[in-house]
Amino acid sequence: MTTELLPEPTQEHPVRALVDGTDVIGSLSPSRAADFMSCPLLYRFRVIDKLPEPPSPAAVRGTVVHNVLERLFDNPAAERTLEVASQLVRPEWDRLLATDPDLSAMFEGEDPVDLTAWLAECRALLGTYFALEDPRRLEPAEREVYVEHVLSSKLLLRGYVDRVDVAATGQVRVVDYKTGRSPGPAFEAKAMFQMKFYALVLWRSRGAIPTLLQLMYLGNAEILRYTPDEADLLATERKLDALWLAIARATESGTWLPRRSPLCGWCSHQALCPAWGGTPPPLPAPTP
Ligand code: SF4
Repeated sequence: MTTELLPEPTQEHPVRALVDGTDVIGSLSPSRAADFMSCPLLYRFRVIDKLPEPPSPAAVRGTVVHNVLERLFDNPAAERTLEVASQLVRPEWDRLLATDPDLSAMFEGEDPVDLTAWLAECRALLGTYFALEDPRRLEPAEREVYVEHVLSSKLLLRGYVDRVDVAATGQVRVVDYKTGRSPGPAFEAKAMFQMKFYALVLWRSRGAIPTLLQLMYLGNAEILRYTPDEADLLATERKLDALWLAIARATESGTWLPRRSPLCGWCSHQALCPAWGGTPPPLPAPTP
């Protein structure tokens, strides 16, 4: 699929672009949808202002572990051991650092992360993965696969799925690795929203509803599973359309409200946030 212009909201509305000749009104990934749902101002800072964020040791650790788990399956089944996975950590980190030298900032400054301990944490997360499943008994159909679909509302949904497994029976399992801890029962539905997003895109683009959605939490060795059905995914589609409408309204009015929550503790933009006594920068000039 070719995208002539990837649409993102600006002060001008509506935003339109052509994806493979299809007129689209905008695009959403699960991460950005989650940003807007948790805090509209955070969405603005990330998508409209495109403010830089310092590298987070936890997020970069997650990237390294994801990369190792993807690469592990390049090996013959018998070689997919914890020892081999652990040996991939350092090369994967070196590769990541080569593509983004700014990541070295994590190990400098006033409160530097200890590289040896940080790499050991990556290996510990891989150890938890091996406690949850045996990759020697798996042959994923797809890994780190890009999926996208334009809804009938002309909203483009897109994202990367960590892993798709297809059983001999044709049953499809969509798997996502999380390097944090599993949410409490009250937040499980929120966590599963991302997986329903992927299930909707796979259903619409490939014609079949995935059999199982699986979130693997390597932070505390928990697995969340969910069996989606058509009603679920239709509700997800309606929710995403409504979400885009809310984003479009905020774009049009220039009103991006902050929403204080425990997530503020991880937000890089507290100094610019009115909820914390800050002042956001002026909105960027409209794109011609
Ligand atoms: S500090 Fe909290 S309320 Fe402010 S932008 Fe960040 S997440 Fe939103």
